[in-house]
Amino acid sequence: MWRKKSNRRSGVEPPLDMPTLEITPQTNISELVADLPIAQGVLEAFGLGCSGCSVNKKETIEQGATAHGLRLEPILIALAQAKRSGQVPTIASEDRRPQKRAPSELARKQQIKHIVPIMSGKGGVGKSTVTAMLAVGLRRKNLRVGILDADITGPSIPRLFGLRQPLIVERDPNGVPDQHGQTPPLFVPAQTRSAIEVISSNLLAPEEDTAMVWRGPILSGVIRQFYEQTLWSELDYLLLDLPPGTSDAPLTVLQSLAIDGVVLVTMPQALATMIVRKAANLIFQLKRQVVGVVENMSYFVAPDTGKRYEIFGPSNADQVTALARAPMLARLPLDPKLMTLADSGRMDEVDSPFVDELAQSLMDVMAKVEKPRETISII
Ligand code: ADP
Repeated sequence: MWRKKSNRRSGVEPPLDMPTLEITPQTNISELVADLPIAQGVLEAFGLGCSGCSVNKKETIEQGATAHGLRLEPILIALAQAKRSGQVPTIASEDRRPQKRAPSELARKQQIKHIVPIMSGKGGVGKSTVTAMLAVGLRRKNLRVGILDADITGPSIPRLFGLRQPLIVERDPNGVPDQHGQTPPLFVPAQTRSAIEVISSNLLAPEEDTAMVWRGPILSGVIRQFYEQTLWSELDYLLLDLPPGTSDAPLTVLQSLAIDGVVLVTMPQALATMIVRKAANLIFQLKRQVVGVVENMSYFVAPDTGKRYEIFGPSNADQVTALARAPMLARLPLDPKLMTLADSGRMDEVDSPFVDELAQSLMDVMAKVEKPRETISII
């Protein structure tokens, strides 16, 4: 005891409030920030600005760098510098930029493990919110996730994640030129703070509220183009937020992409079973399957009394899962906190246990789903 004390005084051991965590690729990001607060500034300078969000509670520096497509080494060097100097060092711009895949890689088949469209029989049931929750839950399991916002006439994914920067569009150097000599565009997906890749028509418009008019066939074409002409990373999951209902656009997606199976989002209303029957019938007619159902806004738990209210009526879970021939992935409560985070573009921060439950249930069912055999033509 005595020796220890005198060592500390003589400077051999650091004082108790000095950072003690070693900075290695395996260091957990949120533990690092708790130990060395300046690390937050360094990570933000690299665009890894999510040290407080739910994903990084479990993520290591290496996993964070990989997810954001960044080189690990400059991050480790900058963190070590900041630890020594107490200041955020200047970061070279090439170290801040994600490493993109070479466009020539598009010529090969897209390296996406699972393609899962999220569909609802009608609008306003929380399809986009559930898509975002699923993405966050899967990221928390350290998977690579992308969202293709195929709800082109009402795109809301960028708003949920606070994304505003227009998409970077490049001309494909290997593409076939059109009559104007232009090769097809290649989209570089936007990244949320927890490194979910996002493609949305809303990120093409100069302003968030610009109305885009798309006619049916063009709309389906745009979705396909977003899928095929995007420099996605090697994703574990690509979630497609489909337009509501059973119109042309969801039909094309179901028909033309090698999807694994559909997640159906519904609400406990009198009409839910009829709406789900219609959506499920369309899916079955196209020889696709539903992999799971999510009953959103299922109930509300009063924060003061803990009493449970079925605001939109009793659950139709049994009828709905029977019609969809698929299990219930989760029954989600009406959650005012979730709505606040969604409204303020902070979905990366959602920390409800339902996010984990949703992702885990999807992963469990996907482990049993056979991969579709079709191959997709690229461009
Ligand atoms: P859709 O994509 O089906 O049209 P949205 O995801 O845009 O629906 O959700 C519609 C509205 O309901 C949004 O304001 C959203 O924040 C809110 N919402 C969705 N799910 C929940 C929930 N479980 N608790 C509270 N609000 C929710």
